[in-house]
Amino acid sequence: MMKATLPTPGRGWLIWAVILFGLGILALSAVSAQVNPRMGLSELTTAVRAGKVSSITISGDESRAVIELKEPAGAKRLVRKERGTDKLLEQAGLTVQDLQKNDVSYAISPTSSLAGLGPLLTTLIPFLLMVGFIVFMMRQAQAGNNQAMAFGRSRARLMTGDTPTVTFADVAGVDEAKQELAEVVEFLREPDKFVALGARIPKGVLMVGPPGCGKTLMARAVAGEAGVPFFSISGSEFVEMFVGVGASRVRDLFEQAKKHSPCIVFVDEIDAVGRQRGAGLGGSHDEREQTLNQILVEMDGFDSDTNVIIVAATNRPDILDPALLRPGRFDRRVVIDRPDMRGRTAILGIHSKGKPLAKDVDLERMAALSIGFSGADLENLVNESAIMAARRNARSIRMADFEEALDKVRFGPARRSRVVSQKELEVTAYHEAGHAVVAHVIPECDPVHKVTIVPRGMAGGLTFFLPEEDRYLQSRTRFRAGLAAALGGRVAEELIFGEVTTGASSDLEYVTRTARDMVTRYGMSEAMGPMTFGQKQELVFLGRELSEQRNYSEAVARQIDAEVRRLVGDALVRTRELLQTNLDRLHLVAKKLLEVETLDRTDFEALMETPATAAVPA
Ligand code: ADP
Ligand code: MG
Ligand code: ZN
Repeated sequence: MMKATLPTPGRGWLIWAVILFGLGILALSAVSAQVNPRMGLSELTTAVRAGKVSSITISGDESRAVIELKEPAGAKRLVRKERGTDKLLEQAGLTVQDLQKNDVSYAISPTSSLAGLGPLLTTLIPFLLMVGFIVFMMRQAQAGNNQAMAFGRSRARLMTGDTPTVTFADVAGVDEAKQELAEVVEFLREPDKFVALGARIPKGVLMVGPPGCGKTLMARAVAGEAGVPFFSISGSEFVEMFVGVGASRVRDLFEQAKKHSPCIVFVDEIDAVGRQRGAGLGGSHDEREQTLNQILVEMDGFDSDTNVIIVAATNRPDILDPALLRPGRFDRRVVIDRPDMRGRTAILGIHSKGKPLAKDVDLERMAALSIGFSGADLENLVNESAIMAARRNARSIRMADFEEALDKVRFGPARRSRVVSQKELEVTAYHEAGHAVVAHVIPECDPVHKVTIVPRGMAGGLTFFLPEEDRYLQSRTRFRAGLAAALGGRVAEELIFGEVTTGASSDLEYVTRTARDMVTRYGMSEAMGPMTFGQKQELVFLGRELSEQRNYSEAVARQIDAEVRRLVGDALVRTRELLQTNLDRLHLVAKKLLEVETLDRTDFEALMETPATAAVPA
């Protein structure tokens, strides 16, 4: 915002404020450097291994640490982690063993480790607040002064050289959408042909679909294919502080677009302005409504030879103002959905182009492993794999890098340095073995792809299942199997240790939610019959629930609870029986896990080959 045209009289203040602010920052960094000179991560690693470090105090979020050196005695250094999600010590390649071996005392301080800067910060903060306040006042004054025009200028970005270089070849897995948009491309290429025949050209195309599946990419590809300029603006950019700015921006944007026709105007996240008028929380209603009205006015004002096509994108089509969806406005809808197996393979292909892949890489298998991933997830996956390979100092990306990246993207980085007691490891091993064994012996469960007791993200260990194909329908039998497998962890803990832990909480959440959905959403309980209960408002493409409205009586609510409990109870009995008859296998898998940490599908299935009689002593 503030980068807008500066040299207007009365802005001298602003310049001074900025300069003062800059000086403040400089002073702050100079002082911080003096209190604790910086030290690099690799320096830290060397220093620890050389026994030069006496203590490490890590900040609560494990992003910074204060290092105390042995020589000169008491000297302190500040270390910061680099980019990425790994913790500081992990990035330095240090384990707790390293610290212990070199006699480094080690603590995590709950507060920031920038000790020593405290007093300085407390004096600086009011100062910074003052500057912020002045800047804010200036902006308000500007707006009042009828100078809002400077802010009102559209920030739509014209891709010069007219056109994005993206084409349909860069978008995969959305073939239907491509077919529908091919018509738009044709029109943009040769508008005269259509106009001569008096055809009414689509004015607006609305792309709907979950985030990260290529809506923005597709819009750019349409412009790229047609070889026309592409103006893009995001709906959230319209929603500004000053009333009237959004509308004037829209006017400006369309003016520019008309000058460059034929062209595409892309409004990303149109739900930010196109929400049903009069609905929603929070301020700036007027602003949004004015902006939306202006968009509608502009669209209606197009002549048949304007040759500007508006493409909008949203993942909330359900909340759009109906006026936007009327014929003559965004009358075409194109669904950009999550890619299926074939689509995922193609997307992986697109993003791994130009990256050196080892011979063992099988993209189809990767696609099978990444069920439910969006295009953006897949891009991220390929990138993470490349990072994994780089860390190994390898020349090419191996399948193992992909698999490690997959786990990381899904569940967070492996936390090998987390200190886990032997007892906890045992509990985790039996817990995961419980899931895996139950899933293995129930034929309707998806095959076990991997079992591990390496902590990852929030979880102590994990059991992955791998569906054999993309599934769009679930059966009651499969739901029941899923319930039993999910309970496997808790039941195993109970059987072996006679005690339960908090480790099963997410399993229990899954069980409760699934059983409830079976009764209230899918009509899978005989007692309740094929009905749904409760009206849910959901974020259609985000799969999140907003609220639930009860449309049934207290008595029915009680019945539902009883049915849910019965479903879970049945599953619990089944799981107990299964684990008791397969106790030897449970021991076998848990012991092996304690030994090797991770079992892949082949290892695991080999263990399961052992006949159920080859009991291993507990
Ligand atoms: P959306 O606008 O639907 O949220 P984007 O178009 O911004 O998603 O996608 C983000 C990134 O993910 C793209 O830049 C692209 O690299 C990748 N991507 C997403 N979908 C696809 C796809 N269908 N084919 C190829 N790459 C994709
Ligand atoms: Mg987008
Ligand atoms: Zn579990």
